[in-house]
Amino acid sequence: MNKNVLQTPIDYLKGVGPNRADLLRKELGIHTYQDFINLFPNRYIDKTRYFKVNELQRNSSEVQVVGKIVHIKMVQQKRGKRLVATFVDATGEMELVWFRGHKWIKDSLKLNTPYVIFGKTNWFNGTFSMPHPEMELLKEHEQSLRTAMQPVYPSTEKLNNKGITNRVINKLMQQLFIESRTQFYETLPPTILNELKLISKTEALFNIHFPKSQELLAKAQYRLKFEELFYIQIQLITKNLIHKSKIKGFPFDQVGEKFNEFYANHLPFELTNAQKRVIKEIRNDLGSNAQMNRLLQGDVGSGKTIVALMSMLLAIDNDFQACIMAPTEILAIQHYNGIMELVKPLGLNVKLLTGSVKTKDRRVIHEMLEDGSLHILIGTHAILEDKVQFKNLGLAIIDEQHRFGVAQRAKLWHKNTFPPHILVMTATPIPRTLAMSLYGDLDVSVIDELPPGRKAIKTVHRYDSNRLKVFRFIRDEIAKGRQIYIVYPLIQESEQLDYKDLMDGYESIAREFPMPDYQISIVHGKMKPADKDFEMNRFIKGETQIMVATTVIEVGVNVPNASVMIIESAERFGLSQLHQLRGRVGRGAEQSFCILMTSHKLSADGKTRLETMVRTSDGFEIAEVDLKLRGPGNIMGTQQSGVLNLKIADIVKDNDILKTARYFAQQVLKADPSLMAPEHKAVRYTFAQLVKHKNIWNYIS
Ligand code: ADP
Ligand code: MG
Repeated sequence: MNKNVLQTPIDYLKGVGPNRADLLRKELGIHTYQDFINLFPNRYIDKTRYFKVNELQRNSSEVQVVGKIVHIKMVQQKRGKRLVATFVDATGEMELVWFRGHKWIKDSLKLNTPYVIFGKTNWFNGTFSMPHPEMELLKEHEQSLRTAMQPVYPSTEKLNNKGITNRVINKLMQQLFIESRTQFYETLPPTILNELKLISKTEALFNIHFPKSQELLAKAQYRLKFEELFYIQIQLITKNLIHKSKIKGFPFDQVGEKFNEFYANHLPFELTNAQKRVIKEIRNDLGSNAQMNRLLQGDVGSGKTIVALMSMLLAIDNDFQACIMAPTEILAIQHYNGIMELVKPLGLNVKLLTGSVKTKDRRVIHEMLEDGSLHILIGTHAILEDKVQFKNLGLAIIDEQHRFGVAQRAKLWHKNTFPPHILVMTATPIPRTLAMSLYGDLDVSVIDELPPGRKAIKTVHRYDSNRLKVFRFIRDEIAKGRQIYIVYPLIQESEQLDYKDLMDGYESIAREFPMPDYQISIVHGKMKPADKDFEMNRFIKGETQIMVATTVIEVGVNVPNASVMIIESAERFGLSQLHQLRGRVGRGAEQSFCILMTSHKLSADGKTRLETMVRTSDGFEIAEVDLKLRGPGNIMGTQQSGVLNLKIADIVKDNDILKTARYFAQQVLKADPSLMAPEHKAVRYTFAQLVKHKNIWNYIS
């Protein structure tokens, strides 16, 4: 088909008048022939079988019957009228029923003429009836472009009510194939078609709409899914390449004094291989001419801080400043303390900037930033304020990414004439597959190895009825000098209830662990930030042995002496939250424990979550299970990204196709970044069309 024909407005298709065109636009977003041909069926029904009336079974699914209408009547009911037709074949009779659209249906029905009807049947008063059947004259049925597998298209109630039924869509699709003379522009390069043994575009489109066999349908689906994912990857990778060529960064071309000094003499431990690899990746980025935009994923405790520090040393060695931004004051303080400890021997100026820094001290920080004498600034959102100006910010690090939005990343960019290099660190493992699609515009580094000697956290699931044993266990651990977290769920809708749970829990714990032998901290969302920090700090300093809290402690706090995490009503937490909470323990030298408390009432998903937590502590594995349980719609960041608007591929189920598509997209762009080679003509053209017609989603960046 001539490429441009596909851009014909849908109004021009025979059988689509202005009214139908309007409905198709509004209800399904179909504007052109191309949009229509890309309306892929949701599922297929087997229509190879024709039932006799006396073969119908109660509770059967959809059936197809051949017969004639011998009588039509209107029946008055309490709740309105219905149209009832008596339908017969050689073996018996049944009823066809309509509750709406009586007039035009009645006018269009032909008596004593063979029809093929299709639909679900009900059994009532000794008769089978089929409400709102799909109907086709037997004569037309025999002539139509029809296959064993009948497609079922996405639809809406409105379309159905206005008579654009599945059958009508099917007919229109046939019409489109007739008008286009069933030749479609090939959108993939011959090399890929050959290598993957994909069927042609024309064959794929034909078989997705009119499958000749199960096997061809499967091939068509594979080819179209591949194509969809391939072009998404082409877009992402291209965007990344353009970004790199357009946005110059400051090349940090020397690995200098501070970095080498630190590496040679002050490393507090041997780096893990994963840390070494990631530092190398970052060094390569920083040394090139392009601005770095990198996501560093590493499970809690995997040692991201040292990577951040060494990256900052690279900036400083090249006469640039660096900053780290954390989502909460407590985390900023922890970073500050940790970094101060590490850089002590290097004689660097490091300052902390949070909302509670006094004006006088703030002024000093501002001055030191502007005259360039401050090397490293660590802080919260306070860093984003306009008053905070750097002399030459070279590297900005954002910790715990999901708490910061895209807008904030952008704000950091504008602190300089040139955007600084950006390193985003997250402990929320995003399944690799999803990361590929969500963060295609960021390069991704992964620390997938924990520092050696770390004792695995022992995780168990206990029912509420075993609470006394759990209390005994807590007492023993405290006797050994350990500290305990007890966490209660806090879910917005039932905040009052949760608050009561928390307070009841606190009281029973206070009874069980009375003062003065035991000291208990409590932290929850209704407290003032200053009070929260006060309580947190008592626990951090070891003045209290038990921390009773809602999930406010979820992010990042580091209390190495805390070795037991008890999660109450664990069935109410999501997997990623459970994993984050568990990550609060296991940070010291002692054996740590995580106890998941639940009632006996557990849903199937709840059970899977608990079993997963008990089985593994691999954040990526947990993230994959989470993705399977909840679907991509609930995973951080997916909403904006459009991975949910895929036409045929499924980001979870078609994982393997995604990987293949990404690999091939990379190969194509590596060999030919501007897609100018003759063999990539189809790719260039198709990609340009997708961008032009906005058939490819807009990306966050
Ligand atoms: P996170 O990735 O959660 O930010 P941190 O950087 O806070 O992890 O590191 C967690 C703990 O592990 C810290 O106490 C840190 O000193 C220690 N650590 C990090 N890397 C190593 C290593 N290679 N060998 C031993 N301990 C390490
Ligand atoms: Mg950290």
